Amino acid sequence: MRIIRSITEMREFRYALSGSVGIVPTMGCLHNGHMALVRQSMSENTITITSLFVNPTQFGPREDFDKYPRDEQSDIKRLEQSGVDAVFIPSSSEMYPDGFDSWVDVSGITHVLEGACRPGHFRGVATVCSKLFNIINPTRAYFGQKDAQQVLVIKKMVSDLSMNIEIVVVPTVREDDGLAMSSRNVYLNPSERRAASVLYKALLKAQRMYSSGERDAKAIIPAMTAIIQSEPLIRIDYVAVSDNAGLKDIEFLRSPALVSMAVFIGKTRLIDNIILSNSDVDTQAI
Ligand code: AMP
Repeated sequence: MRIIRSITEMREFRYALSGSVGIVPTMGCLHNGHMALVRQSMSENTITITSLFVNPTQFGPREDFDKYPRDEQSDIKRLEQSGVDAVFIPSSSEMYPDGFDSWVDVSGITHVLEGACRPGHFRGVATVCSKLFNIINPTRAYFGQKDAQQVLVIKKMVSDLSMNIEIVVVPTVREDDGLAMSSRNVYLNPSERRAASVLYKALLKAQRMYSSGERDAKAIIPAMTAIIQSEPLIRIDYVAVSDNAGLKDIEFLRSPALVSMAVFIGKTRLIDNIILSNSDVDTQAI
C-alpha cells in the first residue's frame, strides 16, 4: 500500500492508474463503519484510495478538533491488511497553505439540522471533499448514511458543480446494541456508553410507529424524545423528521422520510438517523 502525503505525489500516483478509482474520505481513527465503505469501494473499483485527514475547517471554534482521536499507525495497518491500494494523509498546511481563501458553499440544505447547530461545518466538508475530488479524480466516492445530511450536501455539490463522480452511500454500521459506530464513541465513559444505546431504541420506535401506520411527526418525535430522555446523562440537541431531499421539516411523513437526531452525552455530541420508506415497511423485520 502506498502512503502518500503530498498532493503532487497523489496526482502522479493517480494519473499512472487505469481502471476505476474509488475514494473513501475519512478523518481516521478507523472503525468497522469506515471499513464497510472501504470494502464496498474495493468490490466496485479497480483501485481504492482512502484519505485520512482531520479537516480543521469543518470544526467550529468550540468543537473538538484538538482532541479528535487520531491513530495514524493503526489506521495504516488496518488499511494495509484490508488490501487498500493507497492512503492519502496530507497535513493541514498541504491542504490549506497560507493564503488559502477559496470555499465551496452549498446553500439551502446546509442551513438546517447539523448546519444550523454547527455553522460553517458543511462549508468545510464541501471544500475538503472538492479538493480531494480534484486531487484524486475518483470514479466513485463512498460516504456513510450515518452522516445523512453530509451525503445530501455532497450529492448536491457534485450535481450543481457538474462533477463527474458517482456518490455511493453505504448503510450505517452499528455496535451490537445498535449504537452507530463513530470515532467519537471513544470519548464515552462506561455509563455514557450504556446510556447511548437509547438512541437506536428511539429510532426503532419511530420505525415501529411508521410500520403500524403512524405518519404524524407530532406523534413520532415526542415518543422518541421520551425514550432518549429516559437517560438522564443525555441532552437532546434536536430530533427531527424531514423530507430526505430538501431536508424540510415535515408534519406528515411521506416516503422516504429522514428521522435524525443529535444529542450530547456529557461533552460528546453524537448523531444518528434512519430513513423511513414504504418499501421498508414491507421488507424489514422489526
Ligand atoms: P469520518 O471519519 O467520521 O468523517 O467518517 C468518514 C466516512 O465514514 C463518512 O462518510 C461517514 O459517514 C462514514 N461513517 C462513519 N461512521 C459510520 C458508520 N457507523 N457506518 C457507516 N459509515 C460510517
